Amino acid sequence: DPVILVEDLARDYLPGTPLAHRALDGVSLVAGAGEVVAIIGPTGSGKSTLIQHFNGLLRPQRGRVRVAGIDLASPRADLRALRRRVGILFQRPEDQLFERFVGDEVAFGPYKYGLRGDALRQRVRWAMDVVGLDFDTFRDRPVFALSGGQRRKVALAGVLALRPEILVLDEPTAGLDPQSREELLAILAELREREGLTVVLVSHNLDEVARLADYAYVLAGGRVVLHGTPRSLFARP
Ligand code: ADP
Ligand code: ADP
Repeated sequence: DPVILVEDLARDYLPGTPLAHRALDGVSLVAGAGEVVAIIGPTGSGKSTLIQHFNGLLRPQRGRVRVAGIDLASPRADLRALRRRVGILFQRPEDQLFERFVGDEVAFGPYKYGLRGDALRQRVRWAMDVVGLDFDTFRDRPVFALSGGQRRKVALAGVLALRPEILVLDEPTAGLDPQSREELLAILAELREREGLTVVLVSHNLDEVARLADYAYVLAGGRVVLHGTPRSLFARP
């Protein structure tokens, strides 16, 4: 069974008003366990609207969305369970960094879910290690004093610290300098090798998609207009 299954999903914003607008129209998509699936498309094509269905921020108005065995159309869908299993790295790290110090920031999620003491410390150490931030060096550093690339790593460590089954990355390298971008791509490549996470990668960057993704969906005007392996989509005749 696919880890993410989307069938004929549609979404209208402001339905029944003069401003009604169809943001998604008949979208179908699957992601298998351990797969990296990319979603590509211009601004306004529906990418954010689509990924907001993956952690239950939006419920399907029409069609089917099933994520980690949870049917989002069901009124009994366990959204709490879903949010623990789906980690989202938002486009702007500022949207998910709330604590003053790096260690507290990474600990925030697992603490909220009840982890304490040594188990919590081990979890934070592990997550920081995965993103290449040395625990002893960085845990007491103020988040505001870090570079943009380091802040993105802290945000990713905070998401990983919850040990999600599915990781959604919304333009993970947007706005980074070339070196930070390379570092983050290396971290993501290693993460998929080591952890076998299912990853949804939203990206404008075809090079990044070709390097990381097994499969890619191209959205335009709320529809999937193309899908295939990056090789088949980007090959020049
Ligand atoms: P279409 O929309 O062109 O009718 P489907 O949605 O039925 O096509 O999918 C066509 C093929 O694409 C499927 O047989 C499937 O093997 C492949 N496919 C779709 N999504 C993925 C994915 N995430 N990973 C690997 N293969 C995929
Ligand atoms: P993308 O992430 O690809 O830029 P979005 O999913 O943000 O696309 O937007 C898809 C369409 O839906 C756009 O036309 C956008 O203006 C519209 N839209 C997005 N969010 C809202 C909202 N909260 N209310 C009304 N329209 C929206």
